[in-house]
Amino acid sequence: MTRDNLGQVYEMKGDLRAAQEMRLRGAADSNIACGNYNCLKLQNNLSDLSRCSVCKAVFYCSRPCQASDWKRHKKYCRQVA
Ligand SMILES: [Zn+2]
Ligand SMILES: [Zn+2]
Repeated sequence: MTRDNLGQVYEMKGDLRAAQEMRLRGAADSNIACGNYNCLKLQNNLSDLSRCSVCKAVFYCSRPCQASDWKRHKKYCRQVA
């Protein structure tokens, strides 16, 4: 199981803070996956990723990827205090 899978597990459990931490840890190793499950792209540069502006816990390789994942992600998305 990769770190990004773990990020997804935390996301589904509603622990967005842990999900974010997992993904950022992946980013530190230049290994962060797109949050869209159907996209296998590994993006190496955090600054190239677009991040969910509400929870800031999921990262996407592109805006279209983010838009197409929203249907899934909106169930889990909320603002993290
Ligand atoms: Zn993507
Ligand atoms: Zn979100």
